[in-house]
Amino acid sequence: MSSLKCAICDAETSLICSVCKSASYCSTECQKKDLPLHKLLCDKLEKFKATHPRPKPTFTSSHKLALRFPASRKEPEFIWVKINLINEHGKWRLNSDIAEHLHGKVGLVDLSCTQFVHPHYGIDISYDDEAIADSQCIAYLLDGCESVFDRLPRSNLASIASASCGSYVVTRWVKTAADNRPLKEYQDITLNDVRESFAFFYRDVDCIEIKKPNPFVLLKQPQWVSRVIISCRGEELFQGKRKYRQVAIRHEKEKWYGMISSISKDLGFPLGLEPYYAAWHEEAWRDQKLAAKHGDPFSNPEALNLMLGINPMKGSETSWNSAEIRFTITGKLLTMVAVGRIDQQDITEKQIEVLSRYCTDIVHVAMQDKDNDFDEDTKKAILQKYLCKDRFNAYFDEYKAKKLAEGDASWADAYPPKPSTPVKEDAKEEDERLAKRRKVMRDIESRLGEKQNK
Ligand SMILES: [Zn+2]
Ligand SMILES: [Zn+2]
Repeated sequence: MSSLKCAICDAETSLICSVCKSASYCSTECQKKDLPLHKLLCDKLEKFKATHPRPKPTFTSSHKLALRFPASRKEPEFIWVKINLINEHGKWRLNSDIAEHLHGKVGLVDLSCTQFVHPHYGIDISYDDEAIADSQCIAYLLDGCESVFDRLPRSNLASIASASCGSYVVTRWVKTAADNRPLKEYQDITLNDVRESFAFFYRDVDCIEIKKPNPFVLLKQPQWVSRVIISCRGEELFQGKRKYRQVAIRHEKEKWYGMISSISKDLGFPLGLEPYYAAWHEEAWRDQKLAAKHGDPFSNPEALNLMLGINPMKGSETSWNSAEIRFTITGKLLTMVAVGRIDQQDITEKQIEVLSRYCTDIVHVAMQDKDNDFDEDTKKAILQKYLCKDRFNAYFDEYKAKKLAEGDASWADAYPPKPSTPVKEDAKEEDERLAKRRKVMRDIESRLGEKQNK
Protein backbone atom coordinates (compact mmCIF):
# COMPACT_ATOMS: atom_id res chain seq x y z
CA MET A 1 0.00 0.00 0.00
CA SER A 2 1.20 3.46 -0.79
CA SER A 3 0.68 6.60 1.23
CA LEU A 4 1.67 8.86 -1.67
CA LYS A 5 -0.95 11.14 -3.16
CA CYS A 6 -1.11 12.74 -6.58
CA ALA A 7 -0.06 16.41 -6.36
CA ILE A 8 -2.92 17.40 -8.63
CA CYS A 9 -5.93 15.18 -7.96
CA ASP A 10 -5.09 13.63 -4.59
CA ALA A 11 -5.52 10.06 -5.86
CA GLU A 12 -3.33 7.42 -4.19
CA THR A 13 -0.34 6.52 -6.28
CA SER A 14 3.15 5.03 -6.22
CA LEU A 15 4.50 7.01 -9.19
CA ILE A 16 7.21 9.49 -8.32
CA CYS A 17 9.05 12.12 -10.39
CA SER A 18 12.27 10.39 -11.38
CA VAL A 19 14.37 13.56 -11.16
CA CYS A 20 13.51 15.06 -7.76
CA LYS A 21 11.82 12.00 -6.18
CA SER A 22 9.76 14.52 -4.23
CA ALA A 23 6.53 14.84 -6.21
CA SER A 24 4.03 12.08 -6.95
CA TYR A 25 1.45 11.81 -9.72
CA CYS A 26 -1.27 9.32 -10.55
CA SER A 27 -0.79 9.70 -14.31
CA THR A 28 1.21 11.49 -16.98
CA GLU A 29 -1.86 13.68 -17.47
CA CYS A 30 -1.65 15.02 -13.91
CA GLN A 31 2.12 15.30 -14.20
CA LYS A 32 1.75 17.42 -17.33
CA LYS A 33 -0.69 19.76 -15.57
CA ASP A 34 1.79 20.37 -12.75
CA LEU A 35 4.86 20.60 -15.00
CA PRO A 36 5.24 24.40 -15.45
CA LEU A 37 5.22 24.97 -11.67
CA HIS A 38 7.13 21.78 -10.88
CA LYS A 39 9.89 22.64 -13.37
CA LEU A 40 10.79 25.74 -11.37
CA LEU A 41 12.05 23.56 -8.50
CA CYS A 42 12.44 19.96 -9.66
CA ASP A 43 16.12 19.92 -10.66
CA LYS A 44 17.01 22.55 -8.06
CA LEU A 45 16.31 20.21 -5.15
CA GLU A 46 19.45 18.05 -5.50
CA LYS A 47 21.58 21.08 -6.36
CA PHE A 48 20.35 22.90 -3.28
CA LYS A 49 21.11 19.97 -1.00
CA ALA A 50 24.58 19.63 -2.56
CA THR A 51 25.50 23.29 -2.24
CA HIS A 52 23.66 23.91 1.05
CA PRO A 53 24.02 20.77 3.16
CA ARG A 54 21.60 20.41 6.04
CA PRO A 55 23.12 22.09 9.13
CA LYS A 56 24.15 19.61 11.84
CA PRO A 57 21.49 19.02 14.46
CA THR A 58 22.08 19.87 18.09
CA PHE A 59 20.37 18.52 21.20
CA THR A 60 17.66 21.20 20.98
CA SER A 61 17.56 22.09 17.29
CA SER A 62 17.39 20.63 13.81
CA HIS A 63 16.82 21.98 10.31
CA LYS A 64 13.98 21.15 7.96
CA LEU A 65 13.60 21.87 4.29
CA ALA A 66 11.16 24.72 3.60
CA LEU A 67 10.00 26.67 0.59
CA ARG A 68 10.13 30.40 0.07
CA PHE A 69 8.15 32.54 -2.36
CA PRO A 70 10.59 35.45 -2.23
CA ALA A 71 9.74 39.14 -2.29
CA SER A 72 12.52 40.14 -4.65
CA ARG A 73 12.87 37.22 -7.06
CA LYS A 74 10.56 35.55 -9.53
CA GLU A 75 11.07 31.88 -8.78
CA PRO A 76 10.36 30.00 -5.55
CA GLU A 77 13.40 28.62 -3.71
CA PHE A 78 14.44 26.18 -0.99
CA ILE A 79 15.66 27.20 2.45
CA TRP A 80 16.56 25.43 5.69
CA VAL A 81 14.39 26.45 8.61
CA LYS A 82 15.71 25.92 12.11
CA ILE A 83 13.36 24.00 14.38
CA ASN A 84 13.88 24.49 18.11
CA LEU A 85 12.84 22.28 20.96
CA ILE A 86 11.82 24.65 23.70
CA ASN A 87 10.60 24.20 27.21
CA GLU A 88 7.64 26.29 28.19
CA HIS A 89 6.34 26.05 31.76
CA GLY A 90 7.87 22.63 32.14
CA LYS A 91 6.41 21.33 28.87
CA TRP A 92 8.34 20.66 25.68
CA ARG A 93 7.23 21.93 22.29
CA LEU A 94 8.71 22.63 18.87
CA ASN A 95 8.83 25.99 17.20
CA SER A 96 10.28 27.14 13.92
CA ASP A 97 12.74 29.94 13.42
CA ILE A 98 11.01 31.42 10.41
CA ALA A 99 11.51 35.06 11.32
CA GLU A 100 15.12 35.02 10.15
CA HIS A 101 13.89 34.32 6.62
CA LEU A 102 11.47 37.24 6.76
CA HIS A 103 13.78 40.22 7.22
CA GLY A 104 14.57 39.00 10.72
CA LYS A 105 11.74 40.95 12.27
CA VAL A 106 10.72 38.78 15.18
CA GLY A 107 7.10 39.16 16.07
CA LEU A 108 5.92 39.96 12.59
CA VAL A 109 5.39 36.38 11.67
CA ASP A 110 1.80 35.41 11.66
CA LEU A 111 0.95 31.75 11.75
CA SER A 112 -2.73 32.33 12.21
CA CYS A 113 -3.29 31.41 8.59
CA THR A 114 -2.38 27.81 9.20
CA GLN A 115 -4.04 25.64 6.64
CA PHE A 116 -4.97 22.09 7.48
CA VAL A 117 -4.45 20.35 4.21
CA HIS A 118 -5.07 16.80 5.35
CA PRO A 119 -6.17 15.34 8.65
CA HIS A 120 -2.68 14.11 9.47
CA TYR A 121 -0.42 16.78 8.07
CA GLY A 122 -0.48 20.47 7.32
CA ILE A 123 1.48 23.31 5.84
CA ASP A 124 2.06 26.68 7.39
CA ILE A 125 2.41 29.78 5.31
CA SER A 126 4.20 32.50 7.18
CA TYR A 127 4.66 36.02 5.99
CA ASP A 128 6.09 39.33 6.98
CA ASP A 129 3.08 41.15 8.28
CA GLU A 130 4.62 44.60 7.94
CA ALA A 131 5.99 44.29 4.45
CA ILE A 132 4.59 46.76 1.99
CA ALA A 133 6.23 45.35 -1.11
CA ASP A 134 4.47 42.90 -3.39
CA SER A 135 5.92 39.44 -3.56
CA GLN A 136 7.60 39.43 -6.97
CA CYS A 137 7.42 35.66 -6.94
CA ILE A 138 3.67 35.48 -6.29
CA ALA A 139 3.05 38.28 -8.79
CA TYR A 140 5.04 36.29 -11.40
CA LEU A 141 3.19 33.05 -10.68
CA LEU A 142 -0.21 34.77 -10.82
CA ASP A 143 0.63 36.90 -13.86
CA GLY A 144 -2.32 37.36 -16.21
CA CYS A 145 -4.89 36.37 -13.57
CA GLU A 146 -6.88 38.88 -11.60
CA SER A 147 -9.66 38.62 -9.08
CA VAL A 148 -12.90 39.97 -10.52
CA PHE A 149 -14.27 40.97 -7.12
CA ASP A 150 -11.25 42.45 -5.39
CA ARG A 151 -13.18 43.86 -2.51
CA LEU A 152 -11.26 41.87 0.10
CA PRO A 153 -9.05 43.85 2.48
CA ARG A 154 -5.30 43.70 1.98
CA SER A 155 -4.80 41.90 5.28
CA ASN A 156 -6.54 38.87 3.87
CA LEU A 157 -3.56 36.85 2.73
CA ALA A 158 -5.58 34.37 0.76
CA SER A 159 -6.66 36.84 -1.84
CA ILE A 160 -5.22 37.16 -5.27
CA ALA A 161 -5.42 40.93 -5.00
CA SER A 162 -3.45 41.17 -1.77
CA ALA A 163 -0.31 39.15 -2.36
CA SER A 164 1.69 42.04 -1.02
CA CYS A 165 3.22 40.69 2.15
CA GLY A 166 6.82 40.41 1.04
CA SER A 167 8.23 36.89 1.20
CA TYR A 168 6.24 33.82 2.18
CA VAL A 169 7.75 30.78 3.86
CA VAL A 170 6.06 27.39 3.63
CA THR A 171 6.77 24.72 6.24
CA ARG A 172 5.36 21.21 6.56
CA TRP A 173 4.43 19.41 9.73
CA VAL A 174 2.64 16.33 11.00
CA LYS A 175 0.51 15.95 14.07
CA THR A 176 2.06 13.62 16.59
CA ALA A 177 1.50 13.17 20.29
CA ALA A 178 3.92 13.50 23.17
CA ASP A 179 2.83 12.88 26.78
CA ASN A 180 -0.72 12.56 25.42
CA ARG A 181 -0.54 16.11 24.09
CA PRO A 182 -0.70 16.97 20.39
CA LEU A 183 2.69 18.01 19.05
CA LYS A 184 3.49 19.70 15.78
CA GLU A 185 6.43 17.83 14.34
CA TYR A 186 8.16 19.56 11.42
CA GLN A 187 9.14 17.66 8.29
CA ASP A 188 10.98 18.44 5.07
CA ILE A 189 8.74 20.07 2.49
CA THR A 190 7.93 17.95 -0.58
CA LEU A 191 7.36 19.19 -4.11
CA ASN A 192 3.74 18.10 -3.77
CA ASP A 193 3.41 20.89 -1.22
CA VAL A 194 4.41 23.49 -3.81
CA ARG A 195 1.12 23.08 -5.66
CA GLU A 196 -0.84 22.99 -2.42
CA SER A 197 0.74 26.14 -1.01
CA PHE A 198 0.58 28.07 -4.29
CA ALA A 199 -3.14 27.30 -4.63
CA PHE A 200 -3.51 28.96 -1.23
CA PHE A 201 -2.93 32.36 -2.82
CA TYR A 202 -6.15 32.16 -4.79
CA ARG A 203 -8.01 29.93 -2.36
CA ASP A 204 -10.69 32.47 -1.49
CA VAL A 205 -11.10 33.89 -4.95
CA ASP A 206 -14.26 32.71 -6.69
CA CYS A 207 -13.98 34.47 -10.00
CA ILE A 208 -10.67 34.98 -11.80
CA GLU A 209 -10.26 37.04 -14.91
CA ILE A 210 -7.83 35.42 -17.33
CA LYS A 211 -6.14 38.33 -19.04
CA LYS A 212 -3.53 36.12 -20.67
CA PRO A 213 -2.77 32.41 -20.44
CA ASN A 214 -0.93 31.49 -17.26
CA PRO A 215 0.79 28.08 -17.09
CA PHE A 216 0.99 27.94 -13.28
CA VAL A 217 -2.59 28.57 -12.17
CA LEU A 218 -4.83 25.56 -12.68
CA LEU A 219 -8.40 26.64 -13.28
CA LYS A 220 -9.60 23.48 -14.92
CA GLN A 221 -12.88 21.64 -14.67
CA PRO A 222 -14.44 20.21 -12.60
CA GLN A 223 -13.40 22.72 -9.90
CA TRP A 224 -13.61 25.70 -12.23
CA VAL A 225 -15.97 26.46 -15.08
CA SER A 226 -15.43 28.98 -17.85
CA ARG A 227 -17.58 32.08 -18.23
CA VAL A 228 -17.40 35.26 -20.24
CA ILE A 229 -18.23 38.55 -18.59
CA ILE A 230 -19.80 41.24 -20.74
CA SER A 231 -19.00 44.64 -19.23
CA CYS A 232 -21.57 47.39 -19.15
CA ARG A 233 -20.66 50.74 -20.67
CA GLY A 234 -19.72 52.30 -17.32
CA GLU A 235 -17.15 49.59 -16.62
CA GLU A 236 -15.55 50.25 -19.98
CA LEU A 237 -15.75 54.03 -19.55
CA PHE A 238 -14.76 54.54 -15.92
CA GLN A 239 -12.83 51.39 -15.06
CA GLY A 240 -11.08 50.68 -18.34
CA LYS A 241 -12.51 47.15 -18.51
CA ARG A 242 -12.61 45.26 -21.75
CA LYS A 243 -16.06 44.55 -23.20
CA TYR A 244 -15.64 40.75 -23.21
CA ARG A 245 -13.59 39.17 -20.43
CA GLN A 246 -12.68 35.50 -20.12
CA VAL A 247 -13.10 34.35 -16.53
CA ALA A 248 -13.11 31.15 -14.50
CA ILE A 249 -15.69 30.72 -11.74
CA ARG A 250 -15.33 28.26 -8.92
CA HIS A 251 -17.84 25.55 -9.62
CA GLU A 252 -19.46 25.39 -6.20
CA LYS A 253 -19.79 29.19 -6.10
CA GLU A 254 -21.72 29.64 -9.32
CA LYS A 255 -25.30 30.71 -9.00
CA TRP A 256 -26.84 29.64 -12.23
CA TYR A 257 -28.97 30.85 -13.99
CA GLY A 258 -30.73 34.14 -13.94
CA MET A 259 -31.85 33.86 -17.54
CA ILE A 260 -31.49 31.68 -20.58
CA SER A 261 -30.56 33.10 -23.97
CA SER A 262 -33.10 31.79 -26.44
CA ILE A 263 -31.04 32.67 -29.50
CA SER A 264 -28.12 30.51 -28.35
CA LYS A 265 -30.60 27.70 -27.68
CA ASP A 266 -31.80 27.87 -31.27
CA LEU A 267 -28.18 27.83 -32.45
CA GLY A 268 -27.50 24.63 -30.53
CA PHE A 269 -25.38 25.79 -27.58
CA PRO A 270 -27.71 27.12 -24.84
CA LEU A 271 -26.25 29.89 -22.70
CA GLY A 272 -27.22 31.04 -19.23
CA LEU A 273 -26.85 34.68 -18.21
CA GLU A 274 -26.24 35.96 -14.71
CA PRO A 275 -26.48 39.73 -14.26
CA TYR A 276 -24.69 41.46 -11.37
CA TYR A 277 -26.03 44.29 -9.23
CA ALA A 278 -24.23 47.60 -9.19
CA ALA A 279 -22.02 48.17 -6.16
CA TRP A 280 -22.06 51.47 -4.28
CA HIS A 281 -19.17 52.96 -6.25
CA GLU A 282 -20.89 52.07 -9.48
CA GLU A 283 -24.13 53.66 -8.31
CA ALA A 284 -22.15 56.90 -8.29
CA TRP A 285 -21.98 56.73 -12.06
CA ARG A 286 -25.49 58.16 -12.10
CA ASP A 287 -23.97 61.55 -11.37
CA GLN A 288 -21.09 61.38 -13.79
CA LYS A 289 -21.01 64.19 -16.29
CA LEU A 290 -19.18 61.85 -18.64
CA ALA A 291 -22.20 59.61 -18.59
CA ALA A 292 -24.29 62.34 -20.13
CA LYS A 293 -21.72 62.65 -22.86
CA HIS A 294 -21.19 58.96 -23.57
CA GLY A 295 -24.63 57.57 -22.78
CA ASP A 296 -26.10 55.49 -19.99
CA PRO A 297 -23.27 53.82 -18.02
CA PHE A 298 -25.58 50.98 -16.98
CA SER A 299 -26.51 50.02 -20.49
CA ASN A 300 -25.28 46.68 -21.74
CA PRO A 301 -26.83 46.12 -25.18
CA GLU A 302 -24.27 43.43 -26.07
CA ALA A 303 -25.53 41.29 -23.19
CA LEU A 304 -29.18 42.13 -23.62
CA ASN A 305 -29.12 41.30 -27.31
CA LEU A 306 -28.37 37.71 -26.35
CA MET A 307 -31.70 37.74 -24.53
CA LEU A 308 -33.80 38.86 -27.43
CA GLY A 309 -36.40 36.29 -28.23
CA ILE A 310 -38.31 35.83 -31.41
CA ASN A 311 -41.51 36.92 -29.66
CA PRO A 312 -40.63 40.03 -27.66
CA MET A 313 -43.31 41.61 -25.55
CA LYS A 314 -44.68 44.77 -27.04
CA GLY A 315 -43.23 47.89 -25.43
CA SER A 316 -41.09 45.89 -23.03
CA GLU A 317 -37.48 46.82 -22.41
CA THR A 318 -36.36 43.80 -24.35
CA SER A 319 -38.23 44.92 -27.42
CA TRP A 320 -36.25 44.84 -30.64
CA ASN A 321 -36.81 48.57 -30.99
CA SER A 322 -35.16 49.60 -27.74
CA ALA A 323 -32.53 52.13 -28.60
CA GLU A 324 -30.82 52.32 -25.22
CA ILE A 325 -30.78 49.02 -23.43
CA ARG A 326 -30.10 48.63 -19.74
CA PHE A 327 -30.84 45.80 -17.39
CA THR A 328 -33.05 46.62 -14.46
CA ILE A 329 -34.44 43.94 -12.24
CA THR A 330 -36.75 44.93 -9.38
CA GLY A 331 -35.57 48.50 -9.71
CA LYS A 332 -31.92 47.70 -9.00
CA LEU A 333 -29.25 48.76 -11.42
CA LEU A 334 -27.27 45.99 -13.04
CA THR A 335 -23.81 46.19 -14.49
CA MET A 336 -21.87 43.28 -15.95
CA VAL A 337 -23.39 40.01 -17.07
CA ALA A 338 -21.68 36.62 -16.81
CA VAL A 339 -22.41 34.23 -19.64
CA GLY A 340 -21.78 30.48 -19.61
CA ARG A 341 -22.91 27.29 -21.26
CA ILE A 342 -25.65 25.38 -19.53
CA ASP A 343 -24.07 22.10 -20.59
CA GLN A 344 -20.91 23.23 -18.68
CA GLN A 345 -18.74 23.10 -21.79
CA ASP A 346 -16.05 25.74 -22.13
CA ILE A 347 -16.92 29.07 -23.66
CA THR A 348 -14.46 31.66 -24.96
CA GLU A 349 -14.65 35.44 -25.03
CA LYS A 350 -14.25 35.34 -28.81
CA GLN A 351 -17.31 33.09 -29.17
CA ILE A 352 -19.43 35.44 -27.06
CA GLU A 353 -18.13 38.47 -28.93
CA VAL A 354 -19.14 36.97 -32.28
CA LEU A 355 -22.55 35.84 -31.01
CA SER A 356 -23.23 39.24 -29.51
CA ARG A 357 -22.22 40.99 -32.74
CA TYR A 358 -24.34 38.50 -34.70
CA CYS A 359 -27.37 39.31 -32.56
CA THR A 360 -26.77 43.05 -32.81
CA ASP A 361 -25.68 43.48 -36.42
CA ILE A 362 -27.58 40.68 -38.15
CA VAL A 363 -30.57 39.37 -36.16
CA HIS A 364 -31.43 42.65 -34.48
CA VAL A 365 -31.28 44.59 -37.74
CA ALA A 366 -33.50 42.02 -39.45
CA MET A 367 -36.04 42.10 -36.63
CA GLN A 368 -36.01 45.78 -35.80
CA ASP A 369 -39.09 46.91 -37.69
CA LYS A 370 -41.18 43.83 -37.11
CA ASP A 371 -42.33 44.43 -33.56
CA ASN A 372 -45.86 45.37 -34.51
CA ASP A 373 -46.68 42.80 -37.16
CA PHE A 374 -45.22 39.61 -35.91
CA ASP A 375 -47.15 36.77 -37.43
CA GLU A 376 -46.20 33.09 -37.41
CA ASP A 377 -44.95 33.10 -41.00
CA THR A 378 -42.52 35.97 -40.41
CA LYS A 379 -41.31 34.20 -37.30
CA LYS A 380 -40.70 30.94 -39.16
CA ALA A 381 -38.92 32.73 -41.98
CA ILE A 382 -36.59 34.44 -39.56
CA LEU A 383 -35.99 31.25 -37.63
CA GLN A 384 -35.02 29.46 -40.81
CA LYS A 385 -32.87 32.25 -42.09
CA TYR A 386 -30.87 33.37 -39.06
CA LEU A 387 -31.19 30.97 -36.18
CA CYS A 388 -29.39 28.06 -37.71
CA LYS A 389 -25.93 26.81 -36.96
CA ASP A 390 -24.57 27.05 -40.52
CA ARG A 391 -25.56 30.69 -40.93
CA PHE A 392 -23.96 31.57 -37.60
CA ASN A 393 -20.79 29.58 -38.26
CA ALA A 394 -20.41 31.31 -41.63
CA TYR A 395 -20.74 34.65 -39.83
CA PHE A 396 -18.13 33.48 -37.30
CA ASP A 397 -15.63 32.74 -40.07
CA GLU A 398 -16.31 36.11 -41.73
CA TYR A 399 -15.84 37.95 -38.43
CA LYS A 400 -12.64 36.06 -37.66
CA ALA A 401 -11.23 36.76 -41.12
CA LYS A 402 -12.01 40.46 -40.68
CA LYS A 403 -10.23 40.58 -37.31
CA LEU A 404 -7.19 38.77 -38.70
CA ALA A 405 -7.10 41.13 -41.68
CA GLU A 406 -7.10 44.02 -39.18
CA GLY A 407 -3.95 42.54 -37.70
CA ASP A 408 -5.39 41.00 -34.51
CA ALA A 409 -3.46 37.71 -34.37
CA SER A 410 -5.26 36.62 -31.18
CA TRP A 411 -8.11 35.46 -33.44
CA ALA A 412 -5.98 32.84 -35.20
CA ASP A 413 -7.14 30.01 -32.89
CA ALA A 414 -10.77 31.18 -32.51
CA TYR A 415 -13.43 28.58 -33.32
CA PRO A 416 -17.23 28.63 -33.20
CA PRO A 417 -19.01 27.01 -30.22
CA LYS A 418 -19.42 23.26 -30.52
CA PRO A 419 -23.06 22.20 -30.38
CA SER A 420 -24.41 20.61 -27.23
CA THR A 421 -24.53 16.85 -27.35
CA PRO A 422 -28.10 15.75 -26.80
CA VAL A 423 -28.50 13.65 -23.67
CA LYS A 424 -29.89 10.74 -25.68
CA GLU A 425 -26.65 10.34 -27.63
CA ASP A 426 -24.69 10.37 -24.39
CA ALA A 427 -26.79 7.49 -23.13
CA LYS A 428 -26.25 5.65 -26.39
CA GLU A 429 -22.47 6.10 -26.16
CA GLU A 430 -22.54 4.87 -22.58
CA ASP A 431 -24.48 1.77 -23.67
CA GLU A 432 -21.96 1.09 -26.42
CA ARG A 433 -19.10 1.48 -23.98
CA LEU A 434 -20.74 -0.93 -21.55
CA ALA A 435 -21.39 -3.48 -24.31
CA LYS A 436 -17.74 -3.26 -25.41
CA ARG A 437 -16.59 -3.73 -21.85
CA ARG A 438 -18.82 -6.78 -21.35
CA LYS A 439 -17.46 -8.28 -24.55
CA VAL A 440 -13.86 -7.75 -23.39
CA MET A 441 -14.71 -9.32 -20.01
CA ARG A 442 -16.32 -12.33 -21.74
CA ASP A 443 -13.22 -12.74 -23.95
CA ILE A 444 -10.94 -12.68 -20.93
CA GLU A 445 -13.13 -15.12 -19.06
CA SER A 446 -13.25 -17.55 -21.96
CA ARG A 447 -9.48 -17.32 -22.45
CA LEU A 448 -8.94 -17.96 -18.74
CA GLY A 449 -11.33 -20.92 -19.02
CA GLU A 450 -9.30 -22.33 -21.96
CA LYS A 451 -6.08 -21.99 -19.96
CA GLN A 452 -7.53 -23.83 -17.00
CA ASN A 453 -8.84 -26.61 -19.22
CA LYS A 454 -5.40 -27.19 -20.74
ZN1 LIG B 1 -3.73 12.75 -10.42
ZN1 LIG C 1 10.54 16.44 -10.06
